[in-house]
Amino acid sequence: MNLIKVTSKPRKCHKCGKTTVVKILYGMPTEEAFKLLEQEKLVIGGCCITEKSPDWACTNCKVEYIKVK
Ligand SMILES: [Zn+2]
Repeated sequence: MNLIKVTSKPRKCHKCGKTTVVKILYGMPTEEAFKLLEQEKLVIGGCCITEKSPDWACTNCKVEYIKVK
């Protein structure tokens, strides 16, 4: 899986250049989250978050981004 380190949310995907980079949600999705999910403005990352969990993902090419300090 492609994982790119970034210092903030990329405006454009580093790989495909599209503006389809969205936040990855961890835990139980809320009703609001489901709406964003349908619009592809959010992706679900699973129930557990670790230090190595990516923060954002590109819905187009599936590249993931992790925030580094
Ligand atoms: Zn992409």
